[in-house]
Amino acid sequence: FCSSPTGYISDGCGATYKEVEDKNKVIRPLIKDLVTTDYFKYYKIDLYERKCKHWADESLCGNRACAVDTIDDEDNLPDIWKPSNLGKLAEDSYSTNENGSQSEVGDYGPNDFYAEFECPGDNDKDFCVPEDETFGSPGVYVCLTDNPERFTGYIGASANKVWRAIYQENCFSSKENETSDSTSDNINRAGVELGNFILGQNKKKSHDIGDDKAMNFEGQCLEKRIFYRLVSGMHASVSTHLSYEYLNTTTGKWGPNLDQFMSRVGNYPERISNIYFNYALVSRAVAKLKDYLGNITFSASSSEYDTQIRKQILSVAEKANSSPGFNETMVFSTPEALTLKDEFRMHFRNVSSIIDCTGCDKCRLWGKIQVSGYGTALKLLFGLPDTPNSNTVVANEVISNLRRTELVALINTYQTLSKSIEAITYFRDQVRSRLEIE
Ligand code: FAD
Repeated sequence: FCSSPTGYISDGCGATYKEVEDKNKVIRPLIKDLVTTDYFKYYKIDLYERKCKHWADESLCGNRACAVDTIDDEDNLPDIWKPSNLGKLAEDSYSTNENGSQSEVGDYGPNDFYAEFECPGDNDKDFCVPEDETFGSPGVYVCLTDNPERFTGYIGASANKVWRAIYQENCFSSKENETSDSTSDNINRAGVELGNFILGQNKKKSHDIGDDKAMNFEGQCLEKRIFYRLVSGMHASVSTHLSYEYLNTTTGKWGPNLDQFMSRVGNYPERISNIYFNYALVSRAVAKLKDYLGNITFSASSSEYDTQIRKQILSVAEKANSSPGFNETMVFSTPEALTLKDEFRMHFRNVSSIIDCTGCDKCRLWGKIQVSGYGTALKLLFGLPDTPNSNTVVANEVISNLRRTELVALINTYQTLSKSIEAITYFRDQVRSRLEIE
């Protein structure tokens, strides 16, 4: 861990680890500023009413650090987030489908099993269940900068079970895993095996960053590897944040904890690699957005604010576009892979419903934001045309269906990854200093 990572991130990603670190040095101050704007720091989320649908509710984290401070008085919201303005925005530029009509309740994807996890206004192109910000929908307002992702003390069987269930979503039923009697039992068994491997019960360890063999990737297609890397990268990013802002219970102070980082992330090169992979993938999605920012209304009530936010996102998107990154044209590019696309989308949506089972409000908040952020990134990557403005009908459909909550989740997810890269370089310096002292 103490030497800087070298080589390519792979799996559709032409960037090197160094290029990601260099890019992040430029993007870091810009994205930090962007997430403190009113547009990006407030979020409406259904944090309490979507019950866990996968198992009976279990223990809830009672630590103060697990709690979320919500905004209960609407007067404390900035104008652009007041329900009256949100209603107007939704009518102006959101929630219309390709026929120009509002999406209808029950407009679900092809697989009934997953339909129960969906909600009104869902679009079958979505990779996750978007938060519904429209007036009267269930949910609470949260100021994200007042509720940072950091150590909460949510540990033990409940937390492990959620991660395990999420990894089991990596089991796909399509051809590659199919046996002659491909029943759901077989599918579940394969998922459990993969989950066990990932949860460390196979006692195998990898030694090289991006070592696909060590990650049990042999024979897996690109799309399945991407799914796994997204989930593992998100998990590693959460672990990095909780180690970067850890509570020292003796002093009562928050600060970086190198031992926590090493035991959760630093000693596992593939986990670090997956954070870089996610960074490159989300960078590409943000970069793709740059050609369509003119079609998005950021404030219906103030043209000055509208221009300011567009300008700020544009500068992030331009920098995100500055070096080679993720190449989405390699994914779902063969007829076999195309059949995986719906399944990939359904599994990803299911991950967002599993997060509802997280027994810590703060962890659930950031878990849901990040899954929604990755879902939005995937929607932009595979929905927007590869060449800017080459298919305006398709692009307009994707952009006009983009909700504010999705955009806020995307940018905040980018910021969490950016912070993770910063934290990794910080911890690397710490390890080097330790070695020098010894
Ligand atoms: P866990 O992190 O629970 O991991 C379980 C097992 O998964 C490990 O034993 C390991 O074998 C494997 N594993 C770990 N990381 C990876 C990886 N990157 N890739 C592949 N396999 C891996 N805690 C906080 O303090 N703050 C938070 O903001 C927070 N957010 C959370 C959000 C969600 C959605 C969930 C489910 C939990 C969250 N937690 C948070 C709890 C935290 O993630 C851990 O679950 C908890 O600290 C217990 O850690 P652990 O050591 O038991 O291993």
